[in-house]
Amino acid sequence: MDAPLYHVSHTCHNCRQTDYFETTRREAAFELVNPSMYDKVPCTACGNTEYHVWGFSMCELERDLFIEWSQNTNLYFLSQDEDLIIAEEKYLDDILFILDNNIGLPNKRIILLSALFVLIYDSLRGDEQNKKLSEKVIAELKKRPHLIAEARNSNGYIYPYISDIVLPLINNS
Ligand SMILES: [Zn+2]
Repeated sequence: MDAPLYHVSHTCHNCRQTDYFETTRREAAFELVNPSMYDKVPCTACGNTEYHVWGFSMCELERDLFIEWSQNTNLYFLSQDEDLIIAEEKYLDDILFILDNNIGLPNKRIILLSALFVLIYDSLRGDEQNKKLSEKVIAELKKRPHLIAEARNSNGYIYPYISDIVLPLINNS
């Protein structure tokens, strides 16, 4: 059975068959469907209803999903460490869009800010391309002093081991 683009799945404890259940893109992005919902659905190969693995499809995050997430405290990209999940160069424009347009809730703003700090921190080591990325994010923050002030006031939400390294870089570059 081919997996639908967005899905949850379970794998049979008895015969290891994996069955997939289609979800919407939005349900996949915010993990709104719990695979255990399908625990009563028998394995399509052997009819067993005991499963040993549950799975989710990953979903590429796009601006509409960022906007909806930023305005709803009940939505999560993953149940934890959202700042680490979205700390990627491909999401930089979406993160800045939400921050610049003031459309996100305060507790979501701090996650976005933390993601920018993580992005800088993670890019400090490694090759030229990584260094360029950290310089790029630092430059974006320097254009927005209010965001740096907001980050300073995050009351430890941004890990101190990260902000202790990143804040001096922003101030001195
Ligand atoms: Zn089975």
